[in-house]
Amino acid sequence: MQVRHILQDKGRDIVAIADSATLAEAARVLAERRIGAVIVQDNGGSLAGILSERDVVRAIAHDGPLALERSVGAYMTRSVVTCVEADTVEALMEMMTQGRFRHVPVLDERQRVAGLISIGDVVKSRIAETVSEANSLRDYISATA
Ligand code: AMP
Repeated sequence: MQVRHILQDKGRDIVAIADSATLAEAARVLAERRIGAVIVQDNGGSLAGILSERDVVRAIAHDGPLALERSVGAYMTRSVVTCVEADTVEALMEMMTQGRFRHVPVLDERQRVAGLISIGDVVKSRIAETVSEANSLRDYISATA
C-alpha cells in the first residue's frame, strides 16, 4: 500500500493557513475543520511549516493567553518531514514513529503540497488491509475445505 492509495481514498484537500495569521485564527481553523494540524504557507504558497494542536497547547503553556495574538510563524515547526505519493505506508509509519509526529504532508514533483496524511489515515488503511487479508484467507480455507 502506498501514500497515493490513501490519497485516492480520502482526497487531496489540504487545509492551509498563512504564517502571518494569528494563533487564535489557527486554533479556530483546527476546531472548525476538526483536524489536528494545518499546513503553513508563505506568501508565494510554498510550504513554510506545520502547526499542530500540540504547538498551540505548548505556546499557551509557555507564553500564556498572549500567545493567541502572536503569529503562527512564531510557533510552527519549520523543518517539516514530507513524503511523496510513491512512499509506502510502512515508510510513513516509520517516519511518524521516529519523528514523534502524527501528520506528514505529501509533496508533488514541483515540491507543492498535494495532500496531508494523518496517523488516523494510516491506521484506517492498515485495518482495511488486515480485514481484506483475513477475508482472502477465509475464502481460501472454505474453498479448499
Ligand atoms: P503532531 O503529533 O502531528 O500533532 O505534532 C507534534 C509536533 O511535531 C508539533 O510540534 C508539530 O509541529 C510537529 N510536526 C507535525 N508534523 C510534522 C512533520 N511532518 N514534520 C516535522 N514536524 C512535524
